[in-house]
Amino acid sequence: MRYSQLLLPTTKETPSEAEVVSHQLLVRGGFIRKLTSGMYTYLPLGFRALQKVIGIVREEMNRAGAQEILMPMVQPGDLWQESGRWKKYGPELLRFRDRHDRDYCLGPTHEEVVTDIARRELQSYRQLPINLYQIQTKFRDEIRPRFGLMRGREFVMKDAYSFDVDDAGASRSYEIMHRAYSRIFARCGLEFRAVEADTGTIGGSYSHEFMVLAETGEDTLVICDACAYAANVEKAAIVPLDEAAPDGAQQALARVATPGMKQVDKVAECLKVRPSDVIKTMIYLADGKPVAALVRGDREVQTVKLKNLLDANEVEALTEEQVWQQTRLPVGYLGPMDLDITVVADQEVMRMVDAVAGANEKGFHCTGVNPGRDFQPDVVGDLRQIAADDRCPVCGGSLRLKEGIEVGHIFKLGTNYSEAMAATFQDSDGQEKPFIMGCYGIGVSRVVAAAIEQNHDAKGIIFPVPLAPFQVIVLNLGPKDETFCRVAEGLYNDLRAQGLDVLYDDRDERPGSKFNDADLLGIPFRLTVGKTYEKEGKVELRSRRTGETELLPLDGAVAHIAGLVWQALA
Ligand code: ATP
Ligand code: MG
Repeated sequence: MRYSQLLLPTTKETPSEAEVVSHQLLVRGGFIRKLTSGMYTYLPLGFRALQKVIGIVREEMNRAGAQEILMPMVQPGDLWQESGRWKKYGPELLRFRDRHDRDYCLGPTHEEVVTDIARRELQSYRQLPINLYQIQTKFRDEIRPRFGLMRGREFVMKDAYSFDVDDAGASRSYEIMHRAYSRIFARCGLEFRAVEADTGTIGGSYSHEFMVLAETGEDTLVICDACAYAANVEKAAIVPLDEAAPDGAQQALARVATPGMKQVDKVAECLKVRPSDVIKTMIYLADGKPVAALVRGDREVQTVKLKNLLDANEVEALTEEQVWQQTRLPVGYLGPMDLDITVVADQEVMRMVDAVAGANEKGFHCTGVNPGRDFQPDVVGDLRQIAADDRCPVCGGSLRLKEGIEVGHIFKLGTNYSEAMAATFQDSDGQEKPFIMGCYGIGVSRVVAAAIEQNHDAKGIIFPVPLAPFQVIVLNLGPKDETFCRVAEGLYNDLRAQGLDVLYDDRDERPGSKFNDADLLGIPFRLTVGKTYEKEGKVELRSRRTGETELLPLDGAVAHIAGLVWQALA
């Protein structure tokens, strides 16, 4: 492609709303343009990068034996009524009516539609196992669309669904997808981890997330240094320390004035105790009802664990005003005693002795608080977020926390959908049985953003070769010079003849701005026809990633570059 003819509007300005580097660089590099909140047009370069991801995903899904289909993006509400998710899914599901006043929604995921296909088209165990997938635009009315392609409302997903006769088969299908996903992200040239995950609104019993490691990731992973254990902190189980059982209560409950001491640290300092001696009480709204969550003062509540402990659909944190409106309780002075709302305590809290907690009265705390004696929680369980000083739940080794971007998610669904929607097949014993299902998603457009989050520098993007919209950029630094044009065009044509994706910068621009654009766009190999050609008949090859340059004689330059590209794709 000739740069002079390409719709490639690079800009120097960074949009003020672009908080993360992938969003900034995708806009500055002319890859995407915003239509409205959470919805983007892919300009030619953005679309090329997207197509690169799609190509790899499609190849590996086909290799794994999955079959590509394409389902409608608009889905009838009736199907969602059948699965029970019409009520459950919440405001991320964009619902509307057609002219006949029938309910519809924009597909955020396709379990219902594919289960309907299965119950109509798959009658016998002989047709199983089968895995159907599609690559398609999804719509989720995200509460906070942000970070450009990372969390859009409209985005491109690869979603796959497997149907098996029994659990053993479903496990095999799951493993096949686990391996395919590992190949996909490795082939994309990304550093990633597969981690144990929470199953969320999709439902099901078992799941892994594929996380691209990047500091800007919205998820936190915990990784064991000693064994293969890796998990999302939303899910990572806490192994209780097997310290000696604490001594019994010594102190009587007492009320003390702590004016203005709203934070755990302040209260602890004032009362001369450690933060770990304070019971932290937080109020959440679980399916519309206020609940109190208790953790040790030096710990954090993990809301996904809270949601699971309560078996709730949605758990929301509340502001100080909201807490007051809901409970008439003063934030900063909350405690577990005499509450008339559900109280959920972390297991660790139950081991605390002579602790400090809020008195539920502004300006007062209690000392000598003893769980079991002074209050009895309604639910006790694993409620807090794992921390770096916890031990690996598998091997007891030490843990590290790392940020990650979720690019893929695989679930064992079991019979959740097939039972709700009466999707059955006839097994070899003549019995009608529900399909055992699995579902597997990849955020195809998010992969493009994640690749940039992981691979960039101050000058711009550093695309992994497999995802680069162009693999090579040929810079002609003398676009008005006949010889330069002849040489540069010759290289451009010969590189393309090798099957490479080549951008030819034929613009009449200063060399500096050509170099800057090439760096911004992140094209892995830059081939410059400039001064060194004039002087010694050589062209300069530069690697975007390493910054290393080499001078190549014209003869053999194309074969050399093609070799480097193929090597990076192998
Ligand atoms: P998240 O926790 O990030 O909202 P999710 O658990 O809702 O993700 P899934 O339902 O598992 O996501 O969807 C499959 C994949 O689709 C995710 O792994 C992610 O890569 C991608 N994805 C989900 N929501 C978005 C979004 N709003 N924008 C872009 N990609 C998304
Ligand atoms: Mg989501």
